[in-house]
Amino acid sequence: MDVRVRSGGWSVGLDIGGSKVLGVALDPSGVVRHQVKAGTVRGLDGVVAGAVAAVEQLAGRAGVAVGDLVGVGLGLPGVVDVAAGTVEHAVNLGIDESVALAALVADRLGSVPVRLENDLNAAVVGAARFVEPHADGAQHDLAFLALGTGMAAGLLLDGRLRRGSQGAAGEIGHLTFVPDGLPCKCGQVGCLEQYASGSALDAAWPSRTGAPAPAEVFAAAAAGDPRAVELRDQFAAAVAAAVRVLVLTCDVRHVVVGGGVSAVGAPLLDAVRAVLDAAAGTSPFLASMRLAARVTLAPEGVPVGAVGAALVGRGEHDA
Ligand SMILES: [Zn+2]
Repeated sequence: MDVRVRSGGWSVGLDIGGSKVLGVALDPSGVVRHQVKAGTVRGLDGVVAGAVAAVEQLAGRAGVAVGDLVGVGLGLPGVVDVAAGTVEHAVNLGIDESVALAALVADRLGSVPVRLENDLNAAVVGAARFVEPHADGAQHDLAFLALGTGMAAGLLLDGRLRRGSQGAAGEIGHLTFVPDGLPCKCGQVGCLEQYASGSALDAAWPSRTGAPAPAEVFAAAAAGDPRAVELRDQFAAAVAAAVRVLVLTCDVRHVVVGGGVSAVGAPLLDAVRAVLDAAAGTSPFLASMRLAARVTLAPEGVPVGAVGAALVGRGEHDA
């Protein structure tokens, strides 16, 4: 597979999720110039065809030939072997066994380097673009905490992706939050993601208006609905627990909260910070860690996963 690092041209990144494909084209200076969105077609053939179509569309909008792209990056919800260009256990894409996805897409595109990355790793690379550079010149140091179907984090430590020895770094959604709590599909009970994910709120709060459950829960809580207040507070406590784990293990400077639930916006951030501030009020140690100040929301309307995938596609995070 041709993965020479090229420079000085356009790159494309795709965030291939279980329901949709989000794509961006970055100009040679790394600025997002074009975006596309399409439905995901599950199964290997559908994923390859969808990726090829999105890349061709973005290259067309950028006015460059696909063969002139410096690289293409694909963020995938599965276990990725970056060096081999393979992905497996991408259950939400209908891909189970290990497949050489990078080569399959590259063959269809011609001579463009194609790189794969786990979707959360791509997201943390993308999120890093939107946090302030550190005044002391230090490399980016942050976690991207995704609150979506499940809960998990991507880690960028001292500017480098922490993928883990088995590609499983950041799987904090399966830490126990409530002993003897709700059963989890992982086989344990009381996992964090049973309390702090979009799915958790969907399960606990049947939508009354057709709006997403997280938005409804936070709105109803603000209006004083006791059940919504209880759910919101439990949700915020679980997210705060995740933030605490990330900061106390890695001392990341920022925890950027993203995923579908982050669309709730300021009320979510306020609720999480309130839990962290309350804990700091009784613990000088936690107060010294300044947890609440480290939490931010992912930028609204920016597909950080696709942006990160494009940066990966340019070879910026080669293993
Ligand atoms: Zn679990």
